[in-house]
Amino acid sequence: MDSSSGLVIVGGGLAGARAAEGARDAAYDGSITIIAGEDAMPYIRPPLSKEFLIGKDDRASIDVHPEAWYAEQRVEVRRGLRASSIDPAAHTLTLGDDEVLRYDRLLLATGASPRRFRGPGADLTGVHLLRTVDDSIALRDAIAPGGRRVVIVGAGWIGLEVAAAARGYGNDVTVLGLETVPLNAAIGDTAGSVFAELHRAHGVTLRMSTSVAGMVGAEGRVTGVEIDGGEVVPAEVVVVGIGAIPETGLAEAAGLEVDNGVTTDAAFLTSAVDVYAVGDVASVLHPVLRRPIRIEHWANADVAGKAAGRSMAGQKVEYDEIPYFYTDQYDLGMEYSGYGTLTAGIDPVFRGDRDAREFVAFWVNAGKVVAGMNVNVWDVNETVQRLIRDEVVVEPARLADPAVPLEAFVGTSG
Ligand SMILES: Cc1cc2nc3c(=O)[nH]c(=O)nc-3n(C[C@H](O)[C@H](O)[C@H](O)COP(=O)(O)OP(=O)(O)OC[C@H]3O[C@@H](n4cnc5c(N)ncnc54)[C@H](O)[C@@H]3O)c2cc1C
Repeated sequence: MDSSSGLVIVGGGLAGARAAEGARDAAYDGSITIIAGEDAMPYIRPPLSKEFLIGKDDRASIDVHPEAWYAEQRVEVRRGLRASSIDPAAHTLTLGDDEVLRYDRLLLATGASPRRFRGPGADLTGVHLLRTVDDSIALRDAIAPGGRRVVIVGAGWIGLEVAAAARGYGNDVTVLGLETVPLNAAIGDTAGSVFAELHRAHGVTLRMSTSVAGMVGAEGRVTGVEIDGGEVVPAEVVVVGIGAIPETGLAEAAGLEVDNGVTTDAAFLTSAVDVYAVGDVASVLHPVLRRPIRIEHWANADVAGKAAGRSMAGQKVEYDEIPYFYTDQYDLGMEYSGYGTLTAGIDPVFRGDRDAREFVAFWVNAGKVVAGMNVNVWDVNETVQRLIRDEVVVEPARLADPAVPLEAFVGTSG
């Protein structure tokens, strides 16, 4: 058995890389090893459906750190190697088939994998998933020539971002979604309809309340998507963006508590001694909500990743950040902060010009702001976060009135 110990991080994504950084920030001096399943240094994924996909960002710009950083910080990244099992009692993990590595503390930062379409034709050439840089390159090669019929299965963030990129390259784009309005699960119908109008205005065909029966093809290549009722929507390129599934296999096999993600306390400690989890894979106790939440967003991998590293290094951590994410589609930029779980069934209050797509939307629950989304309005998200954090009691009519400065609400907590 290899006698290496120290901190071992399984998963070389953003959360894993930030955890290494957080541990060094907290003056951890022992060895740090990242087991990176992909044969790549840690990189960030949001550009894979945006700037990188449209050819604006190059490969180097999506790296979390320059390669030299890892050597300077004495962080060993073992690329293209997967952890296959954990033995929490022995404080060991197995890499590949037989290498056994000891750890003092272990972090599961294994992220999530795209949900696959389970029906017929899913493996036809021309059917794409989008998670890795290689997926993004393959998709870019397929859509960059333009003039193709691109059908996107799924009207969530990734589906809509890919739709924008594919339109930008001059393709004919159709989005198929199960729900009546895109993004319903993320931001509800009212805010989702802003994105529906945006895409229609850019020539995307949205076919909502539509379920996919299968992909059809000829000679191994996709030629269309069959929807319920038998109609085939023709396509040369199909993108499946129907959500992601947390990579909990290692944790489950090791007997850790898993419930829609690896369950942790607010310091990222799982149910096993010295085993932590963070990022897309983790369901972390939120001190404000008083229940675990799993967040599949970049800012969480970024900020919580670092906090998990500090926690593993022995610092006291109680992670209570307000969830945050963003999107860019065409000329629309958006930031969202808040507790999506508290917004169900609530119609947002709009402040600004909804039709011009320049506004801040607030979700007000029991008189308090629980989430806010700024669209093409900048430098307000920090204030939105303060309103949420301070549990400010607001009058919706005043909140909607641009004549009342947002700052006027800060400090009026209930
Ligand atoms: C195309 C795309 C666009 C996105 N856009 C946005 C956006 O605009 N805004 C936003 O907020 N979020 C966005 N996200 C989400 C964001 O990228 C994720 O929340 C973030 O990547 C999560 O980081 P992570 O480190 O937890 O997991 P991941 O990035 O998934 O990294 C986990 C890594 O662990 C590896 N791994 C898994 N199992 C093992 C194993 N057994 N052994 C070794 N390695 C293993 C995986 O191969 C992977 O490399 C986007 C995601 C995608 C895919």
